[in-house]
Amino acid sequence: MEDMIRIAVDGPSGAGKSTIAKAVAQRLGIDYIDTGAMYRAIGYKMLKKGINVDDLEGIQRLLDTTEIDFSKGDIILDGQVINDLIRTPEISKQASSCSAVGIVREKLVDLQQKMGRAKSVVMDGRDIGTVVFPDAEYKFFITASPEERAKRRYNELIEKGQKVNYDQVLADITDRDHNDSTREITPLRKAEDAIEVDTTNMTIEEVIEYICKEMK
Ligand code: C5P
Repeated sequence: MEDMIRIAVDGPSGAGKSTIAKAVAQRLGIDYIDTGAMYRAIGYKMLKKGINVDDLEGIQRLLDTTEIDFSKGDIILDGQVINDLIRTPEISKQASSCSAVGIVREKLVDLQQKMGRAKSVVMDGRDIGTVVFPDAEYKFFITASPEERAKRRYNELIEKGQKVNYDQVLADITDRDHNDSTREITPLRKAEDAIEVDTTNMTIEEVIEYICKEMK
């Protein structure tokens, strides 16, 4: 436990958290854990099984029989690599709604704490510095304007060959911001001791440099 290091990277959708967290983890030679992918995995499985967000019994059964793991940069749901399957606008929405369900959060937070106890990690999400690891050695809160975040997400989806419309992406981002920051259980908020980084006018490289310098 002594020489374990946990770096929490939180912030709203599309602020560049995962790119930044991944790069920082690589520089430090430690694992990167994408907690958003875990909510996406549950959302994906609920959709596939036709389980609704208010069917708490169904969700509990699903949670009891679900395994989520990370291996070599892949996210694995019940033995299947689901990296690309969970990166669609439909699953983004699904993840956002299932993340407001208490039993889903409990299960995933517990899993995340186990992952971060076993080894040093950079973990990105919404509640890492506030709930998952309130005692993390380093906490960053990454933001950018909604328009800039929509632009980045739009470019990312276009690069992946998906058909999307900028205004729709912006509307989705604003919608998810609203859901994430107004939900009853652990709404998105900056931990008091987190360092806030507004990346609107910064390149990814500048952000990574800044974070690495803060940690020295
Ligand atoms: O980060 P990403 O966009 O992949 O996350 C998908 C959704 O999962 C978010 O919109 C948010 O509602 C939820 N989430 C969460 N807590 C986390 C990570 C993600 O509620 N730690």
